[in-house]
Amino acid sequence: MKVTASDKSCAYGDPGVFRGTFRFENPILADYVWPICEIRGKVPGPRLCISAGVHVNEVSSIEAAVRLQNLFDPETLKGTVSIVPLINQPAAYKYCEYVCPVDGKNINHTFPGKRDGTFSEALCDAVLREWTAGADCYIDMHGGDLKEKVSKFSIFQKTGEAEFDDLARRIAMCFDSEIVLALTPEYMSKPGRPPTACALRKQVGIMTEAGSNGLLSEDDIAFHVEGVLNVSRLLGMTDSAVTLPTNARKVCDTYIWVDCPADGEFHAKVEPGIKVERGQRLGLLRNLFGDTLAELTAPVTGFVLWRITHPSIRKGEPVLTIVEEERPG
Ligand SMILES: [Zn+2]
Repeated sequence: MKVTASDKSCAYGDPGVFRGTFRFENPILADYVWPICEIRGKVPGPRLCISAGVHVNEVSSIEAAVRLQNLFDPETLKGTVSIVPLINQPAAYKYCEYVCPVDGKNINHTFPGKRDGTFSEALCDAVLREWTAGADCYIDMHGGDLKEKVSKFSIFQKTGEAEFDDLARRIAMCFDSEIVLALTPEYMSKPGRPPTACALRKQVGIMTEAGSNGLLSEDDIAFHVEGVLNVSRLLGMTDSAVTLPTNARKVCDTYIWVDCPADGEFHAKVEPGIKVERGQRLGLLRNLFGDTLAELTAPVTGFVLWRITHPSIRKGEPVLTIVEEERPG
């Protein structure tokens, strides 16, 4: 990373608050700069990396990344908090849903990426290799693209190694989630989200989700902000006590996509975060004359993780996902 300080910033690497921009070393990414705020405490300690804006419409998580910049005091912080509030720079001001406009890839499904790959692959590789390498924890914040509503949830990657998995679970539990999604070790065999890529190198990575429809929501912003503060407390970077959760925090591990059976208008009967029983009605698919084309029912008993809010959905596109509760052992 080549870092440039803004006015009134401390020098990069000094105790204090650094504000500025950086370029990645990888020449594939040379046309873009990324804003960064790094708060370094006077006392050494863990390094916590925080990002948002992989999906640029998930605005409550981006706003959380902005507010967090003012919530750590270098006088009392032990260690360093590094914040990149908008990862998908090519999508800034373009409102692209899900993807990076340079190569049409979903960055969130591309980690760990590839140094000599497409733009998104090079970006994932650079995030891991140039920015978050050596961090004690990397948190990537998300939540509800323009046509989506998500439950409050956090994701961690299970590896099968008890000590690592326990720490990752405890960090994911720092967020007041309705659902904690524990990705099973099979996810580690293919490209995926940051928690998976981080686990491959024995680093704890977490993804957090809260938000919907490109709307700023104080409740969703607070979910991310409070969760990150709790992680810093758990890691011993700040002295105050970890706050207690109020949500149910069901741990789930199997992810089932419910696809639309025909082109039509989907009218949902369930909301993210709720429990559904196998066979329960999820919603009706209608045509533009109001005729019912299909009734969608839950294929399994589980929790609704997120759903599409725009009724018009093409055949084969997912309308929602259900996650099944983790079985012990
Ligand atoms: Zn997202």
